[in-house]
Amino acid sequence: VTPAAGSVAAVCFDLDDTLYPQAEWLDGAWWAVASRAAEVGVDPTRLHDALLAAAGARGTDGGGIIDAALEAVGRVDVPVAPLIAAFRAHAPETLTPFPGIAAALEELALRLPLGIVSDGDVAIQEAKLAALGLAPRFAALVWSDAYGREQRKPDPRPFWRAAALLGIDPARVVYVGDRPAKDVQGALGAGMQAIRVRTGEWRKCPDDARAWASVPTAVEAIARILDLLEDQPVSTPASTRNSTSPVTSR
Ligand SMILES: [Mg+2]
Repeated sequence: VTPAAGSVAAVCFDLDDTLYPQAEWLDGAWWAVASRAAEVGVDPTRLHDALLAAAGARGTDGGGIIDAALEAVGRVDVPVAPLIAAFRAHAPETLTPFPGIAAALEELALRLPLGIVSDGDVAIQEAKLAALGLAPRFAALVWSDAYGREQRKPDPRPFWRAAALLGIDPARVVYVGDRPAKDVQGALGAGMQAIRVRTGEWRKCPDDARAWASVPTAVEAIARILDLLEDQPVSTPASTRNSTSPVTSR
């Protein structure tokens, strides 16, 4: 359902596979795991390939990927804890947003306050946002894992928290994300509007018909929102917003 002109006052985004390809981060993380395993005699290239295969088979949020990969290379004797630590410690200095994302967010942030609502290890998610160079665009950051995994999307609470931090009624917030079952369902359940983007690992998963729109990338999602805004006046000088530090809820 297309929102009425004047009804959108803020936009929140998912992070992984919405603003950048998570595969880029993951590939580096799998290499970090493989390098640590090489210290105990595991062939790193074989383990890296096995990690990619296990992640592809299970989905990256499935868990047990490292155990499955060790089994695939016949090394169940290798302790998993140091490998998980290597995964968590992976912190690339830079990550690359999807093409056009940086400029589109810059333009949108001049019109509306922006936020992030993301699941995942808090330190890892914060490091990703910093490596992407996008942190200055967001006035509110909500990392749901800070409240426990049971508050991961589609739980409405992280969405409500973002709306509260932005000082905007959830009904006037549009959420942009790639996973219908987490992002669209969660946003709608919290009373927000939602745009689904078909990027990344879940791009082939069917749409949720209740979303405002399903578009190929977040750049198109932002274009839709900007089109809608053309019919409504600028309510707040965004320059003051961009200069403030983000509020992080954790
Ligand atoms: Mg995502």
